[in-house]
Amino acid sequence: MANKFIDDGTLVLNELSDYLDTSADENTTVIDQVPMKDIINDLSLLDLLENGGLEGERLQKFTHDYLNLTTKLHHPQCLAHQISAPHSNGAYAAMIDGLTNNETSIYEMGPATTTIEYIMINWMLEKIGWTPSPLPGSVEAETMTEYAGGVMTHGGSLANLTAMLAARSAKFPNLWRDGTPGNMVILVPEQSHYSLKRTAGIMGLGERNCIALPADQDGRVLPSEIPAMLETLKDENKQVLAIVGNACGTAAGLYDPLKEMGEICQKHDIWFHVDAAHGAGAIICDELRYLVEGIELADSVIWDAHKMFRTPALCATILVKDHRHINSAFSQDASYMFHEKDQPGVDLALRTLECTKSALGVKMFMTVAAMGEQKLADYISGRTKLTQDAAEYINSLNDFECGVTPETNIICFRIDGDDQRQLDIRKKLLNKGDFYITTTKYKNRWWLRRVFISTASELRHFKKLIDEIREINKSL
Ligand SMILES: *Cc1c(COP(=O)(O)O)cnc(C)c1O
Repeated sequence: MANKFIDDGTLVLNELSDYLDTSADENTTVIDQVPMKDIINDLSLLDLLENGGLEGERLQKFTHDYLNLTTKLHHPQCLAHQISAPHSNGAYAAMIDGLTNNETSIYEMGPATTTIEYIMINWMLEKIGWTPSPLPGSVEAETMTEYAGGVMTHGGSLANLTAMLAARSAKFPNLWRDGTPGNMVILVPEQSHYSLKRTAGIMGLGERNCIALPADQDGRVLPSEIPAMLETLKDENKQVLAIVGNACGTAAGLYDPLKEMGEICQKHDIWFHVDAAHGAGAIICDELRYLVEGIELADSVIWDAHKMFRTPALCATILVKDHRHINSAFSQDASYMFHEKDQPGVDLALRTLECTKSALGVKMFMTVAAMGEQKLADYISGRTKLTQDAAEYINSLNDFECGVTPETNIICFRIDGDDQRQLDIRKKLLNKGDFYITTTKYKNRWWLRRVFISTASELRHFKKLIDEIREINKSL
């Protein structure tokens, strides 16, 4: 039995190892959208389902063919989405988790995974500048009352929902029982992630009560205009559930002025939530830290490790300045349950919507622990620097323009021509498959958008992309 595990595992590992080499080769394609019916045939999916036998050579062939059909995130010309090209240690973590299947809501079901999640949460809390949670059983746990807390979730969207539930039970403790009244609003940046609108829908506020904050011409929140907005909302008998700041926004990657926003929220006793799903990297980078100045004023922060932290998806975290607010997010009076049992660890279950939960902390830990904090910070600030170099290059060209000076690894740019032209160019690029980028609506126009996230991407790949866009533009 043990041999078969190693034999099959070796076949799969060899295929993965080849994949790591070939998928980073810029002379291969990044993306190839094969029709579903061909994939079903090529992978013999229906035959395998009926007859089994996915082992040995068959397993190797399946792995090989499957890998050929993937979109290649490690490729230097994969410049599309905010999802990591994972570190190999993250992949090992996913495999260890896959086999052990220890889950992370109840301590007895996974003591090591729960401990590691707890440690990773404390690591993030400390980086923000908050007080980490004391270890269960320690002297501090008996005496401390004021400290931060959090929980890892399968994705930032769920983390945003959890943050708004924490806000609701902190500020309006009866609403878990009574339901959300019709006059409640969430104030979000113009460029906020769509998961916040979904949150408003799910919580019964209604999407239209997710209201955009005043913004400057680049889409950053304008704090000076918030007090007047609050006055108007008060006159209309609206209740503000929370104010949200981006760190950073999804479309153009800009950071909102968190310090000023946080001070306004403190003054008006409003929950301040910071969406740092993509941009949390700035928290750990000395050179970029100024971008998140004031983040410690937040009541809650979300942080995705499967974006800029080289960790495989999904791996996100919701962090709160006062741990009691995450304990009560899913009920107003459950916080005492946390200490109720006589056990050497904690149960994270009451902090999350999920019941069974995978070993998210292990994936993040094994990645950060392979690289070390400094190398990880160098990677994150290096991707931002590369993006700023790309913006400088764009600004030196007569036929292209940049949407805004980048603050992170995201850049919006366009070639001379109308909106349709940008969309047509991306379509042609996708069909060709040697570059993978996205488009976005920003400042009321369509832009080409690219994200430097693969460790293999360099400025010369971006210059090659510009040349290819020019060629396509001529042919349109
Ligand atoms: C990606 C992103 C999210 C959603 O996170 P998922 O992990 O994809 O669910 C939320 N907010 C921002 C700013 C993001 O960039």
